[in-house]
Amino acid sequence: MINIRDISVRCGQCMNFMTLSSYEPRDGWNAYTYECDGGTCDAAATRTVIEVPVSLDEFAVRGCPTEG
Ligand SMILES: [Zn+2]
Repeated sequence: MINIRDISVRCGQCMNFMTLSSYEPRDGWNAYTYECDGGTCDAAATRTVIEVPVSLDEFAVRGCPTEG
């Protein structure tokens, strides 16, 4: 199982940790969108999407992670 909270996501430009900003279920995948938290990067330009197979996604079992 994969828990998205156990994965470290860093910005490739400034190396700050990135913040989970949205979650979107797709066909067979859960897509998590991260944005840079550093303040020096353009959030739109550095946005990162991580996709986890639904069958392995431990975190999403408990519901949408951006809703509490
Ligand atoms: Zn950054």
